[in-house]
Amino acid sequence: MDKIQKYDVQIVGGGLAGLSLALALGKNNIKTLLIDNLENPNKTNKTDGRTTALMESSVNYLDNLGIWKNIKQNSCKISCMRIINIVPPNKISNEVIFESNKIGINALAHNIDNHILRTELCNEISKFKSIKHLFNSKCKNAIQKNDGWVVNTDKGKYSAKLTIGADGRSSTIRKCAGINFKKKDYNQSAIVFNINHTQNTNNTSTEFMYPEGAFTFVPMGKNKSAIVWVEQTDQVNKLILNDKLLKQKFIQKSQKMFGEIEILTKPKSFPLSKIIAETNISDKLCLIGEAHHGITPVAAQGLNLSLRDSAILAELIIKNKDDDFNKILISYNKKRLKDIKTRIIGTDIFHNFSRFSNPISIGIKSIATNMLNRMPQAKNQLMKLGLSFPDGLPNMMRKNNKI
Ligand SMILES: Cc1cc2nc3c(=O)[nH]c(=O)nc-3n(C[C@H](O)[C@H](O)[C@H](O)COP(=O)(O)OP(=O)(O)OC[C@H]3O[C@@H](n4cnc5c(N)ncnc54)[C@H](O)[C@@H]3O)c2cc1C
Repeated sequence: MDKIQKYDVQIVGGGLAGLSLALALGKNNIKTLLIDNLENPNKTNKTDGRTTALMESSVNYLDNLGIWKNIKQNSCKISCMRIINIVPPNKISNEVIFESNKIGINALAHNIDNHILRTELCNEISKFKSIKHLFNSKCKNAIQKNDGWVVNTDKGKYSAKLTIGADGRSSTIRKCAGINFKKKDYNQSAIVFNINHTQNTNNTSTEFMYPEGAFTFVPMGKNKSAIVWVEQTDQVNKLILNDKLLKQKFIQKSQKMFGEIEILTKPKSFPLSKIIAETNISDKLCLIGEAHHGITPVAAQGLNLSLRDSAILAELIIKNKDDDFNKILISYNKKRLKDIKTRIIGTDIFHNFSRFSNPISIGIKSIATNMLNRMPQAKNQLMKLGLSFPDGLPNMMRKNNKI
């Protein structure tokens, strides 16, 4: 019979949520296993092709984890967000601009390549003996025993006092724990790639609101942007296979605002859906990140939300490590539900609002935009609301709280 290796905490899934949690726990001497089905990023050129706009609190978390100083120079500050309404077929109607300095902050977010973030998290994790990071390891299933869950992988069997499912939208851990979920498919996908352009971004994220979906330039530097281009999925499938058509349509949709462009990376597509599991906890088991909740990228909130799961859970475990883990999980559940619920509802409304396409809806969208422009106080309040947290922030997400 295979010998079962035992840990305090085992995390299934080496996405950014799972990696950050493993690092926070390992830094605090908690014996942690990370089961990661991806390759070591130092040994591959494969990337997920995306960038993430990280809010200040997420940057603080990465800084407190000790990695932000190494990747800061690869990030790009976003100090302005410009939302431009487009009416069919391709005409600019009106726009609204949100500026960080209007609410007394330096940046709305910092944009960073996911591959750089993943690499740095993996490199930092490798410095801690308390963390066993298993690359190229897939969890096949998990079975509940009296003293915790046994996880079967293609490399061996493991058990821990606490098992975390950080294994994304199709979570195996969620399935094995019998936790149901609801999913709403938007029948849209996002095409993602990076470009160089001759116009300066001026640290502004520009989002064109087309009825068929948002078309966004997220700055990666002065003359470089990450594109997140949402279309109906059948259109995306055609565009992704035809470079010429993709470039032609791209130029048309960008309203020629960015000058000459050069596509730098191979376009990748991501289907868009909203997903929420019925709970994020079970006996000695917890779901974090997209294993519990997934939202559309329209407001750049998904990973920020997942990093709050990671920081709050890490803090609770570290402070109460001698307690019964189930007690910790009940506190975690209480601390997370309001934040998660608000973001899921908020992004769904924003997503649907952005794709209104009948004349009445387009009129409403245009009136709302004009009203925001006439009421700067309301606009600033909206900005503050988007950057606020209903349950407050854990210490790990505050400035200068080294972990
Ligand atoms: C186009 C796009 C743009 C986005 N932009 C932003 C943004 O600007 N800001 C923002 O905050 N969010 C953004 N998001 C959302 C963000 O990318 C996700 O919320 C985030 O990546 C989720 O992280 P996660 O670790 O929870 O899940 P995942 O990244 O899905 O990680 C799960 C990991 O588990 C692994 N796994 C799955 N099954 C198993 C198994 N059986 N065994 C072992 N491992 C397994 C997977 O391979 C994966 O590595 C964007 C999303 C998209 C689609």
